[in-house]
Amino acid sequence: MRVAVVEDDEGVADALVDALTANWMTAVHLRRGQEVLVRHHELDIVLLDLGLPDLDGIEVLRRLRQVSVLPVLVLTARDDERPVVRGLHNGADDYLVKPARMSELLARIDTVGRRAALQGSTAQATTRTFGDLVIDVGSRSLTVAGDRVRLTTMEFDLLAAPVENPGAAVSRQQLMDRLWGDAFVAVSRSLDVHMAALRSKLGRPGSIETIRGFGYRWIG
Ligand code: CA
Repeated sequence: MRVAVVEDDEGVADALVDALTANWMTAVHLRRGQEVLVRHHELDIVLLDLGLPDLDGIEVLRRLRQVSVLPVLVLTARDDERPVVRGLHNGADDYLVKPARMSELLARIDTVGRRAALQGSTAQATTRTFGDLVIDVGSRSLTVAGDRVRLTTMEFDLLAAPVENPGAAVSRQQLMDRLWGDAFVAVSRSLDVHMAALRSKLGRPGSIETIRGFGYRWIG
């Protein structure tokens, strides 16, 4: 697995590169966003800092998504969720708060990497239609009023779980297990962030109803 650490802080980058290398991954340290756009063919996954010296991380993501579905994990400073939401909206697959615990980082890399592999191999062509929303299980994509909307792997799973049983309640724990496996207990807030991004892409926030204190339900 070739992992790009896109980070201009040498201390942070060195710690990440060491940890990845110790876990049998090939870590490539890139200091500028432009390098990701040039070298994405050589990579399997990108860890992307949003504050880079040449290009804003969000802009890197936006340009990368025009040419590649390479998995991207955004690294963000604590207490600032706005850039994360923008990142997810522009095609990031997941995010981590810095300083990230190494066990969590490795598990996220594993999850996102595994999903990306699955996404490439899914040949099943099944669509579900709810009014002008068309959910395509084969390409893991969504069409809203005729416009194709690209969902991240996380967002698609978050959408697919309630859609599989319309009207039935899906608990937060079930969703967290489905998205991240049961490796974490502290990702509850992440679930909210991914759900906010998904609802904004759906353009119909009411399609997924929140059941307070429990989870969600697909209304359609
Ligand atoms: Ca930085």
